[in-house]
Amino acid sequence: MKLFLDRNKTLLPRIDTIYMLSRILALASISWFGYFRGLPQGDMLLFDFILATYIAHLVLFYAATKGRFDIKLAYLSAIVYDILLVPLLVLYTESVNSAFYPLFYLTISVAAYVLTFWFSLAAVVLVTIGYVISVYNVFTLEALFDLSVRVGFIWVYYLAILYASDYMRRSERRLLKVFDTLNMRTSELEKSQAQLEMIYENTRILASILEPDAVVREVMRIMGNLLRYRSYALIFKDKLGNFYYRARSEAGKTNFALKAIDISRMELVRKVSNVGESIIVKDILKREDYEGLAEKSRSALITVMTAHGLTNGIIVAESEDVDHFKQRDVQMMSAVARSAALAMENAELHKKTEELTVIDELTETYNYRYFVQKLEEEKRRAIRYDQPLSLIMVDIDWFKKLNDSYGHEVGNVVLKGLSAIIKQCIRDVDIFTRYGGEEFAIILPQTTLKEASVIGERIRERVEKEVFDAGRLGKLRITVSVGVSSYPENGKAEEELLAVTDQALYRAKGEGRNLVRII
Ligand code: GH3
Ligand code: MG
Ligand code: MG
Repeated sequence: MKLFLDRNKTLLPRIDTIYMLSRILALASISWFGYFRGLPQGDMLLFDFILATYIAHLVLFYAATKGRFDIKLAYLSAIVYDILLVPLLVLYTESVNSAFYPLFYLTISVAAYVLTFWFSLAAVVLVTIGYVISVYNVFTLEALFDLSVRVGFIWVYYLAILYASDYMRRSERRLLKVFDTLNMRTSELEKSQAQLEMIYENTRILASILEPDAVVREVMRIMGNLLRYRSYALIFKDKLGNFYYRARSEAGKTNFALKAIDISRMELVRKVSNVGESIIVKDILKREDYEGLAEKSRSALITVMTAHGLTNGIIVAESEDVDHFKQRDVQMMSAVARSAALAMENAELHKKTEELTVIDELTETYNYRYFVQKLEEEKRRAIRYDQPLSLIMVDIDWFKKLNDSYGHEVGNVVLKGLSAIIKQCIRDVDIFTRYGGEEFAIILPQTTLKEASVIGERIRERVEKEVFDAGRLGKLRITVSVGVSSYPENGKAEEELLAVTDQALYRAKGEGRNLVRII
């Protein structure tokens, strides 16, 4: 059972000082009474004892206010002491008419202020008993009347203090609760602002990324490291309208391999994409139209990536708790999604522009610029992994003549046709480029000189057999000369390889054309 009221956190005034002052006043009046009223010798001794303990008690109380020990104990000892002392004083003075009777009020006030209800009640009962005993010797009818009035006052006073202090305490509790809520809200606000600022900082980086894959990686990093979602994914739509995972992270494992989505089980994704607004899935298990990324996922937040009114992707975040996502998550995810959408659009545009600068318009193959770039890249890779790399150069024989006899337009048709043929003769990983004019270069990673020569021969044969359409001028045939070189046998530097290929091609021309040569 609790003895003291909880006073650690209070807005009510501390009564320590006032209480001390009133006790000093009481001490002064007791001393004055003791020394000027004149008591019998025996009583005087007892009186001195009381005075001494009263002073000692005050010192104790003072020490408690200075933090030497718990002030609650000082109050308790004061109450107990008063319950014993005040009746004695009353007894020694004029009993019912004693001037020390008001000291009871001090005891009652403190009891009601610091003790819990039952203990304060017990204190007041004890005070009453003490008071009655102290006046017992003069028990006349008149005294009984005085006594009952005074005792009545004691109780009325106690109840009034009890009520007032309880009322104050209740209001105070309500007020403290409001303060607590306010504090909580403020710290929540501060937290979300800090988070928003961090997101802003991070999304600013997004805007500077020029490569779509790098944008995807950065968005995934933000989702995992910054927003700390458990599972999350980036969903894109291909040209045919099919949805696929561009990247997904399930419980800490991130996967950048593309994965098609079975839309019959993810109807919600399509809906969100069409409507263009974020949606919170409070309980995944209760929905037929949404399947979680991870088995343990219970709730999800689906946000659209929209740039210039167009949705170019969807970001999904999942939690293992039901109803995890709140308005704040929506805000933060929307901020990320907006930046991601713009960054994606920007990167795609950049990629297209880059591509335009490396694509040859006539044959729609890569141009010389791309060839130089790729040859350097592939050669570096070949050196790093210690793998062969081959280079094939194809040049049309007597093309100047063809132009002269059939015209430039037909020459162009032939160039396009030849590009198509060569593309059919090589692998997807080979890099086919228009080196210039009627010369084409092919970079063949992980291919030996021997293998490349076979491919060169295949091209030569296929071209020889092809019949080109020269419109009203009829049909025509062409032949090509092919030069082949390889890393490492023909050199290490790109220039060396190119020079060797050129020499090989020159040899093919010199030895009669329509030939494949190495040096
Ligand atoms: P060789 O067998 O020695 O290779 O003889 P060639 O006539 O093919 O040699 P050359 O390199 O002297 O001639 C290349 C010609 O290709 C010159 C140019 O008119 C033609 N040419 C270059 N680019 C184009 C083009 O884009 N379209 C057309 N129609 N012709 C082009
Ligand atoms: Mg040429
Ligand atoms: Mg030529």
